[in-house]
Amino acid sequence: MNDFWEGLKNYLLYLERLGVKTLPAKKAFKRFLELDLSPAPKDLAEIAAEIKGCTRCPLHRTRTNIVLGEGPSHTKLMLIGEAPGREEDLEGRPFVGRAGKLLDQMLKAINIRRADVYITNVVKCRPPGNRNPEPEEIEACLPYLRKQIKVISPKIICTLGLIAAQTVLGTTEPLSRLRGRVHQLDHLKVVVTYHPAFLLRFPANKRLAFEDLKLLKKIYDEVK
Ligand code: SF4
Repeated sequence: MNDFWEGLKNYLLYLERLGVKTLPAKKAFKRFLELDLSPAPKDLAEIAAEIKGCTRCPLHRTRTNIVLGEGPSHTKLMLIGEAPGREEDLEGRPFVGRAGKLLDQMLKAINIRRADVYITNVVKCRPPGNRNPEPEEIEACLPYLRKQIKVISPKIICTLGLIAAQTVLGTTEPLSRLRGRVHQLDHLKVVVTYHPAFLLRFPANKRLAFEDLKLLKKIYDEVK
């Protein structure tokens, strides 16, 4: 367990001994990461073992592969999309189709290597026909994402697309109001941008996405 989670756990146990039952946590952070006392998984392999064969939501019925994520086990930047698509479902890897190629180009444009970034999605199984995941499916799958964040311990999260942004930030605000600035969720900085699949359909938004990427690069270089 890293220092942050160890410290948080000890502090919560201390408050519990004092009889404190609830905490005035920020709504978005509490909803997304949840202040629970469960220990962080040892590593990503432990999460992979837990998720194997998962049937927590109906998406298990139509998936080919669970797409847990890909990248270093500890890194300062984590990218979070919404759900695997067709190619990802077939290969069991995130962002490998046309959208994946565009994501590679986006990272290259700001001189960040894909190999240095952990990439995952809010839900780990493909919704049929690439529809948006339902709120119940997101809720069922979020514990895995929370555990990934505990293990990887990123400093920065970049959300790709509306669903990832709204889930991570615990908001219903439109993407146009969420992008273009840095959100602070306790120790995490969050930058919001468009999903590459959306940019393939609506390339006029690439200019705005590039502004987001420049902002991401700025804090990426600042954060040690
Ligand atoms: S989407 Fe998540 S919760 Fe649903 S079956 Fe897949 S791994 Fe389990």
